[in-house]
Amino acid sequence: MNLERSLSAFERAKRVIPGGVNSPVRAFRAVGGSPLFVKSASGCTIVDLNGRTYIDYVMSWGPLILGHAYPPVVKAVQGAAARGTSYGAPTELETELAELVCGMVPSVEKVRFVSSGTEATMSALRLARGFTKRDKVVKFAGCYHGHGDSFLISAGSGALTNGVPDSPGITEGTSRDTIVVEYNDLDAVTAVFAANPGEIAAVIVEPYAGNMGLVLPVPGFLQRLRELTARDDALLIFDEVMTGFRVAPGGAQEREGIVPDLTTLGKIIGGGLPVGAFGGRADVMAALSPEGPVYQAGTLSGNPLAMTAGITTLRALSDQAIYRQLDAIGKRLGEGLDSIFTRHGVPHTMARAGSLFGFFFTEGPVHDLRTAKKANTQFYARFFHAMLDRGVYLAPSQFEAGFLSTAHSAADVDRTLAAADDALASLLAPATRR
Ligand SMILES: *Cc1c(COP(=O)(O)O)cnc(C)c1O
Repeated sequence: MNLERSLSAFERAKRVIPGGVNSPVRAFRAVGGSPLFVKSASGCTIVDLNGRTYIDYVMSWGPLILGHAYPPVVKAVQGAAARGTSYGAPTELETELAELVCGMVPSVEKVRFVSSGTEATMSALRLARGFTKRDKVVKFAGCYHGHGDSFLISAGSGALTNGVPDSPGITEGTSRDTIVVEYNDLDAVTAVFAANPGEIAAVIVEPYAGNMGLVLPVPGFLQRLRELTARDDALLIFDEVMTGFRVAPGGAQEREGIVPDLTTLGKIIGGGLPVGAFGGRADVMAALSPEGPVYQAGTLSGNPLAMTAGITTLRALSDQAIYRQLDAIGKRLGEGLDSIFTRHGVPHTMARAGSLFGFFFTEGPVHDLRTAKKANTQFYARFFHAMLDRGVYLAPSQFEAGFLSTAHSAADVDRTLAAADDALASLLAPATRR
């Protein structure tokens, strides 16, 4: 395939940017080869520097639930830009987005905006520690909560893909305060509370784990976390940076009927612009500066362009019919891939929550990081490239979820399924027949 211009763009980038990218997974290390550089995008497709179009299932890693360059967002942001791009003073846009968030996410009484998911989780943890006056945090192996020091212990996403679960640069003191448990292991997390009574500030969890591939909670897991934290006066933090506004208007907490103390948000909340948020119980949020003693701030927090994109996106998502549409398209893709993998005799495990999907090339079941790592990453890499050759852009790693948008039509999904069928036929063809 002719990736010539992307190749030279990558060489040029590598001279001035470490690894040529500003976020590690983009570099294609897990699947080999050289990343395609994007020239433009619209709806469910991206166009590379050679002018080749791909159906996109990365969708900027989640934010673009309404598709690339969604016209109402483009128009609103253009209008906002002309009124000034940043003031460093409050605007009504921030209140409007906050009202939307509080109205949609069941547990959020008050919310503060930041500029990324990483900032949201870091700030939420500081708040939890300041509020409880405790230091320890419990996280789950394979869950990714951005690149804050406390969370880069057995982290998912790029940290997992690149095989650097514990990054240099994180102090021993920090790693000592992070307790890591396998996802879905009810006994282990119960034991952790028994061994550390009155010392745990918070449990942070992706209610649907989407950064080691997609792994859903077993029945009772999230309920147990709620019970254990409540009994010990620790806070339960749902990291819904990926699932918020994705799996339901109110995120995974709405679907599962669990009320966390704090929720972190990102991705969709900014409609494709840089926004993160953390919010929850009003008494906990009151500990935040300037109301309380826990410091947190940001020069570009609540940025008017970003707020405008977020408001336009969340308003569109207030229509429940959108989630039925997303679920139908997710079902079409998920069931289609499942039957194609089965037909070709490829061992696999599927997971899906609405428009969030994942598949592992292993018999399964996959319920935690250990079982996720049984997946055949080499076969994934070959499948990824075979799909790219056929104009379908999947996540360049076995350990990332896939994302659909309202811009993906049934015809787009059917073209994708035909590509998968053809890709597997060529990958699995006996050498003599080639
Ligand atoms: C993407 C993600 C983050 C980090 O958000 P950034 O905006 O990349 O900093 C945190 N938590 C989860 C669950 C995520 O999926």
